[in-house]
Amino acid sequence: MANRGRILIRGIVQGVGFRPFVYARAAELGIRGTVRNTGSQVEIDAWGDRFPAFLSAVSRGPPVARIDSVQVEPLEGNPPRDFSILQSTEGALSGLIPPEIATCHDCTHDIFSPSGRYRGYWATSCVNCGPRYSIITGLPYDRERTSMAEFPMCPSCAAEYSDPACRRHHAQTIACPVCGPQLTLADTAGSPLPSPDPIGEAARLLDAGRILAIRGIGGFHIACIQESAGELKRRLGRTEQPFAVMVTPGELERIACVSPEEWEVLESQIRPILVLPKRDPDALPHVSNLHTIGCMLPYAPLHHLLFARLSHPLLIMTSANHPGYPMVTETDEAVEKLTGSVDFILSHNRRIVNRCDDSVIRDGFIIRLSRGIAPKRTRIDLGPRCILGVGPELNSNITVYAGGFTVTSPHIGHVRNPPTLTYLQETVERIGRFLGARYDVIAHDLHPQFLSTRFARELAAATGADPVPVQHHRAHVAAVTTDPCIGITIDGVGYGDDGHVWGGEIFAGAVPDLERVAHLEEVPMPGGDLATRFPERMLYGILPGAGTRSLLSARGWDGIALGVLARQVDRSFNVAWTSSTGRVLDAVAAMLGACRERTYDGEPAMRLESLATRGTAWDWPLEYGTRDGCRTLSTRALCRHALEAYLGSGDLALPDREKARADIAASFQHNLARGIAALAIDAAREHGIPEVVLSGGVAYNRAIRETIRTEIRDAGLTLFLNPDYPLGDGCISYGQCVWAGTRE
Ligand SMILES: [Zn+2]
Ligand SMILES: [Zn+2]
Repeated sequence: MANRGRILIRGIVQGVGFRPFVYARAAELGIRGTVRNTGSQVEIDAWGDRFPAFLSAVSRGPPVARIDSVQVEPLEGNPPRDFSILQSTEGALSGLIPPEIATCHDCTHDIFSPSGRYRGYWATSCVNCGPRYSIITGLPYDRERTSMAEFPMCPSCAAEYSDPACRRHHAQTIACPVCGPQLTLADTAGSPLPSPDPIGEAARLLDAGRILAIRGIGGFHIACIQESAGELKRRLGRTEQPFAVMVTPGELERIACVSPEEWEVLESQIRPILVLPKRDPDALPHVSNLHTIGCMLPYAPLHHLLFARLSHPLLIMTSANHPGYPMVTETDEAVEKLTGSVDFILSHNRRIVNRCDDSVIRDGFIIRLSRGIAPKRTRIDLGPRCILGVGPELNSNITVYAGGFTVTSPHIGHVRNPPTLTYLQETVERIGRFLGARYDVIAHDLHPQFLSTRFARELAAATGADPVPVQHHRAHVAAVTTDPCIGITIDGVGYGDDGHVWGGEIFAGAVPDLERVAHLEEVPMPGGDLATRFPERMLYGILPGAGTRSLLSARGWDGIALGVLARQVDRSFNVAWTSSTGRVLDAVAAMLGACRERTYDGEPAMRLESLATRGTAWDWPLEYGTRDGCRTLSTRALCRHALEAYLGSGDLALPDREKARADIAASFQHNLARGIAALAIDAAREHGIPEVVLSGGVAYNRAIRETIRTEIRDAGLTLFLNPDYPLGDGCISYGQCVWAGTRE
C-alpha cells in the first residue's frame, strides 16, 4: 500500500472543523504534509508509513461533515518536515455554505465552568459549533470573510486558534469576553441600561413579565414568559396565531408528548422548533389554542445563560417580524420597528450578514427549512446547465443548481410585499455569488402575476437566461422524485394549466411529463381571496342551499349580505373555480364553527385538525365524477354529509353536539383522504405504476396523511414522501429546478 498521496475530499467540509480534524489525525499517525480548503474541497498532501490508516480516518471526517467523495491522486516530491494547515485558496465553488450549528456540549460546559475564560460569555463557540451562514460574507469560510473579521483575536484566543491540540484550533468564530462581540441591554429608544450584567438583568425583566426583543443568531426574537402572552398578542395584533416556545428539557417533558426520535431531533445540532402534541390539549391556551405546541431547546450560549438566570422554565420566542415579512436583524431596525411591541432590547454587535429564521419540523417533516438545515445542499444530476428556481409566492425560498448539486436558501417568506421581494433578490444575488453561478435557466411559477415570476422574467431578460415556467403542483411532485409515479399534491392554491386554482391534484407519469389524471371537484370561491379569509363564503360556494343559508343566518349574517353572496354564486360573478384541498377543509372548519375568519396561514384547516383529534372517524359513502377526461372526487357530496350531520338531520344525527362536531371533523378528514387515495389507486392501476408520492401542505395533517398512507399500502402500492424538503411550498424552488433540469 502506498505511503503517500494527495487526498481530495468533497462535501460539506467547510465550517465543520475539517482542517483541524485532519491535523489531529496527522499528529496521531505521524503523517507529514499539508491540508487546505480550496473552496470546493479539502486537499490533503500526506506522506507517512501509516498513510492507509490516515486515509481511512480522514475519509470519515469530523462529526458535522457530510462527505460526498474521496479521491486519492499520486503525489510527487519530498515531504515537508511536519504537517501544517495552509491558507485557503478561492477555487471553483460547489455549494459548500455551512449552516449554523447549535452550541456543543463542550462549549456549554465552558460557559458554566467557574474558572474558565469563557465563563458567562454569550458568543462562545468552537470548530464543532457556532454561527456559520449567518455571518458569512464570502467563501471559502475563513474568519476574514465573516462578520467576526471585525473582532481581532486577543493573545489568548490567538494562542488557542493556532494550538493544534485545542478544540478551537482554526475555529473561525473563536472569541472571548476580552476580544469578542458584546451584549447590550437597551430601552426602546436605543439607550443602553447601565447594567454590568445584561443577561442577568434581561432575565430579571422577563421574570417580571416584561417583553424583550433578543438578537440571536440569524435575527431578532420577541421573548416573554407565558403569563405575558396575552399582552404580547394584543401588542402584535396576532390574537390567534400560536407562538413557539423555548423551554428547559424538564418543562418540555411536562407540557408535550415527545418520542425518543423527537428528543434526538430536539437535541441535534439543528435544534429546530418541533411541533409536538400537548399532553393536555387545553393547556397553555394563550400560547397555542391548537392541540399542538411548537417547542425548541436553548441552542445558543446566550439562551443557555439566560435560562440559567431565569426562574421560569418556558419563554415564548417568536420571530420578530410580521408573518411573511423578513425577520428583523439590525438593532436600529429593531428600535424602529419593535417599539410598541417590546419593552427592552437585548442586542449584540456581531453583524448578521444573512438572515436565518428558526427551522420548524413536525412528525419528521420539515415545515420551515432554515437555521441549521439551510443552505441545504443535495447531490443530484440535472445536467450541465446552471439553474435558478425562484419559488412560488408564499413560504418561498430559492434554489440554485450547478455542477451536480442544488443549494436551497433558508426560508424567505411571502413574496407578495416589497420588503420580502427585496430579500428574495438579495438572497439570489448572495447565494449566486457564493456559488459563482451564471444562470442558463431561471425556473419560476406559472402564475403570471406573482412578484417572483416578474422578477424571474426580468432577471432572465437581463442575463440572457432561459425563463421556464413550472406548474406549482408538478414542482411539488418533482421535489419528491423524477421516477415514474402517481403524484398526489394536496395544498392551498396554485395556478393550474387552465388558469383555474388547483390544489387537490393527481398526476401520472415521470417529471417533466406529468399528466393531470384526477383532481378534487372544482367548486366556486366567491370573491376569490375573500373566500380564503372568510371561509364561510367558501362553504356557501360549495353548498349554496337552504341548510347553509340557515346556518349563516344563525351566525349573524344579515339578509342583504347573504343575498349578495347568493347572487355572486348564482351568476358566477367574481368567482374563481378551485380544486384546492385546503379550501374544502376551510369550508368545513367554518361549518363546524372552528374558524370563521382566517387570521394566519392555514388557520381554519389547523383548527379543524385540532377539533378532529377529539373525534372518531366513520366511513361515509364517496361519490366520483369525470371532467375533461379527469376523474374527480365530489367534495360537495362530502360537505353535504358533514352539513346534514351537523344540522342533526338525516341518518347521521348524533346525540352529543360537541362530540358530534369532533366526529364530523374527524370523519370529513378521513373520507376526504380515502377519496384522494382512491383516485390515486385507480390511476396507479390504470397506468401500471406502483409508486405513489405525496406532497403539499395538507400532508402535514397527520390524520389525512396517515389515512392516505394506509389506503395506498392496503392497495399493495408504495407511498413516498420526501423528508428532506418541506411538504409545503418550501419545496417548490427545488422542484422547479428539478423539473426545469429534467426538461429537454
Ligand atoms: Zn463548541
Ligand atoms: Zn479573546
